[in-house]
Amino acid sequence: MGEKNKLYDLIIIGAGPAGLGASIYASRYKLKNLIIGSEIGGQVVEAAEIENYAGFNSISGRDLMKKFQEQAENLGAKIVQAEADDIKKAGDEFEISVGTGEKCKSKSVILALGMNPRKMNIPGEDKFIGKGISYCATCDAMFFMNKTVAVIGGGDSAAAAAIHLSEFADKIYLIHRGRMRFKPALAEQIKRNKKIEIIDSTGIKEIKGNQTVEGIVYESAEGEKEIPVQGVFVEIGAVPKIAIAKNLGIKMDEQEYIIVDQAQKTNIENVYAAGDVTTGSNKFRQIITAVAEGAVAAGSAYKQLITRN
Ligand code: NDP
Repeated sequence: MGEKNKLYDLIIIGAGPAGLGASIYASRYKLKNLIIGSEIGGQVVEAAEIENYAGFNSISGRDLMKKFQEQAENLGAKIVQAEADDIKKAGDEFEISVGTGEKCKSKSVILALGMNPRKMNIPGEDKFIGKGISYCATCDAMFFMNKTVAVIGGGDSAAAAAIHLSEFADKIYLIHRGRMRFKPALAEQIKRNKKIEIIDSTGIKEIKGNQTVEGIVYESAEGEKEIPVQGVFVEIGAVPKIAIAKNLGIKMDEQEYIIVDQAQKTNIENVYAAGDVTTGSNKFRQIITAVAEGAVAAGSAYKQLITRN
């Protein structure tokens, strides 16, 4: 990697819209910045179609993030595609350990850590990850051509996944619990789609199979039921990815989102946070708000650094 001896003005951890947005602003402020992130584009690359990002009537998540990356790199950002494992503060500097065992140093940090998919934590879930269980319909739908699958969840992610899967699978059971909260445009598409069948449940109990997924067991008003499926797509929301922030003593709210002020500052001096992982933007958590938080965080880091230098 060869980054260990350099002292960066700013290291941005996370390469999603918040991290790339922060870098674009940091480069324009002439801050020497490094982005460390295992997935360039973050969770957005999983979105088949985005229709609510200004400037694009419709674009895939992957294409939108490619444009972010190109712009950030053209402006001078260096991106290390790896997981940041740990972060330590030593005096005025931060030392970040990266997957390969190397360490990078900076004067300030932006945590744009994003989210992890929420798990169901039921029997069979871990056993069949990659063997029929998936957390990303756009990544894995093509493996279920002409098959029968279940999508779990009652939010827009589940709705979008079911619609996307209907281009590949023969039959999709959309199993939700509680209230369905699909936005009207998605609810309308689901209603019209003959491959999708909605199942009301009171909870998912177990994933069954031998080598791969063969069935799903759920609880309903009529008691426990089992249906044969070859795939299960878990689309039940996401949880903040905060392990590295915990190591640094960053303050979080009761749901473990990083607490930030209007300048995207955390409780630790010279550490900022941006994007879905924060309490910012009225917790709206959209691509456009993540980019905006990244821009504000970079601006705050710049203001702090010029007063220090
Ligand atoms: P949400 O938090 O909106 O929904 C999560 C769903 O999963 C709820 O129905 C919840 O049910 C259910 N759930 C949670 N835990 C379990 C469990 N253990 N077993 C079964 N079901 C469970 O998350 P989404 O990922 O759907 O959406 C997040 C945000 O992203 C939203 O703002 C959404 O609008 C946005 N989005 C927009 C899209 C678009 O516009 N095309 C596409 C995808 C996402 P319960 O209420 O009972 O807990």
